[in-house]
Amino acid sequence: MRLGVIADDFTGATDVASMLVRAGMRAVQVIGVPDGPVPDADAVVVALKSRTVPASEAVRDSLAALAWLRAGGARQCYFKYCSTFDSTAAGNIGPVAEALMQALDTDFTIACPAFPENGRTVFRGHLFVGDQLLSDSGMRHHPLTPMTDSNLPNVLQTQMQSRVGLVRYDTVARGEAALRQRFDALRAEGVRCAVVDAISNEDLHAIAAACADMPLLTAGSGVALGLPDVYAARGWLSPDARAADLGRVGGRGAVLSGSCSQATNAQVRHWIDTGRPALRIDPRDLAAGRATARQALGWALAQPEPVLVYATSSPDDVRAVQAELGVERAGHLVEQCLADIARGLVAEDVRRLVIAGGETSGAVVRALGVTQLRIGAAIDPGVPWTRVEGRPLLLALKSGNFGAVDFFTKALQQVE
Ligand code: ADP
Repeated sequence: MRLGVIADDFTGATDVASMLVRAGMRAVQVIGVPDGPVPDADAVVVALKSRTVPASEAVRDSLAALAWLRAGGARQCYFKYCSTFDSTAAGNIGPVAEALMQALDTDFTIACPAFPENGRTVFRGHLFVGDQLLSDSGMRHHPLTPMTDSNLPNVLQTQMQSRVGLVRYDTVARGEAALRQRFDALRAEGVRCAVVDAISNEDLHAIAAACADMPLLTAGSGVALGLPDVYAARGWLSPDARAADLGRVGGRGAVLSGSCSQATNAQVRHWIDTGRPALRIDPRDLAAGRATARQALGWALAQPEPVLVYATSSPDDVRAVQAELGVERAGHLVEQCLADIARGLVAEDVRRLVIAGGETSGAVVRALGVTQLRIGAAIDPGVPWTRVEGRPLLLALKSGNFGAVDFFTKALQQVE
C-alpha cells in the first residue's frame, strides 16, 4: 500500500478513492476500521463517520484508522474532508489534523478542500462554491455543519491550537518549487498547517508534487488527483490502466434515493420526465406502520426495466414531514425503508444499485452487510461505481449534491 486515507464520511471516502483510481491507483474502501489485515491495493481508504460526532470521538476513530493503515504499510497518510470544509464549532477538521500530526510525529501539513471540477475553489484563503463565497452558498443553512465564514485560515485557527498559515495563489501558480519554499518559510515561522489556494486541476497537481514527502496531507478529494502521477514519477507506483475495471456482474439495475438535496431533486424529476418507472415513498405511511417497503419491493420486481424508488422531496415537504414526525424519526424511517428495499432487491437478482444520499448510502451498505468496496470508474466527478468485495454486486453511492441531472440513467447505462 502506498497511500492510507482517512475519510470523515462515507460518500466522501468513495469520492477520494475515485480520484486515485482515475489516475491509475488501485483503491479499496473499507467501512470503519476492520479487525483484519489491509486489503491488497495501492491505496486503502477508511470511511469513518466522524464529521459531526463530538471532536474527541472523531480523534479517537481517526487515530485507530491511522494505526491500522500504518500497520498495513501505508507510506503516506491523507485526511480527507468535505470540499465545503464541513465542520462543527468544535472541529472536527482541526482536532483530527492535530492528533494525526502528533501520531505521525510531523510538524507541518496543508489544508486544501479545493475541488475545481465541482466548483469548489480556494483563493486568498477564501472558499468558493461556484460563484459564491461558501458563507453565501446553501452551506450556510446546513442542518449539522452550517458554514458561515469563508475564510479558511480563520475557521481552521478556531479549531487548532497550533498556528495556521496561508499559501496564496501567486505562489501556487509558480509551481512545485515555489510551494516547497513557501512551506519551508511558514514552518520556520512556526506555522504548523497551511491553507493552500487552488483554482484548477493544474494547481492540485503542483500541490500534490510539493507535498509528496509529507507524512500527512489534509484535503478534500481534489489534491488526491495529483498524487498517483507524483508517485509514478518517483517510481513508487506503476499506474494500472485497468485500476477501474470492476468486471461484469449481470443481473438487474435499480435506483434508490433518500437524498433531498437540490441536485437529487432534479435527478429524480429527470428520471420521471423521461418516462421511466418511479415510485414515491411517503414517510407518513412509514410512521403509520404500513407495509410500504414490501409493497414497493413487489412493485419494483414486477417492472421489466430498472426502477427508481425515492423519498426525495422538496425542502418545504421535508420541513412539513419533519415538523410532524421529528427530524430524526423521519430520517430514520426513510433510511430503514430504503435499506429494506435494497436488501429485497439484491436477494432477487438486482446487482447494479444506485443509491442517492450520504446517510441513505450508509444505511443501505449496513443493511447489505458490506464491509469492503473496490473502486471503479467515475460516473460524474466524485461518484464512481464500486464493487462489493467477493460478491457480484455493484453500488454507486452518490452524496446529495453530486452528479449531473441525468446521473441515474448515465450510471446504469455505464454498467449495462
Ligand atoms: P444527502 O446526501 O443529500 O444529505 P442523506 O441521505 O445524507 O442525503 O440525508 C437525507 C436524509 O433525509 C436521510 O436521513 C433521509 O432518510 C431523509 N429523508 C429522505 N426523504 C425524506 C422526506 N421525504 N422527509 C423527511 N426526511 C427525508
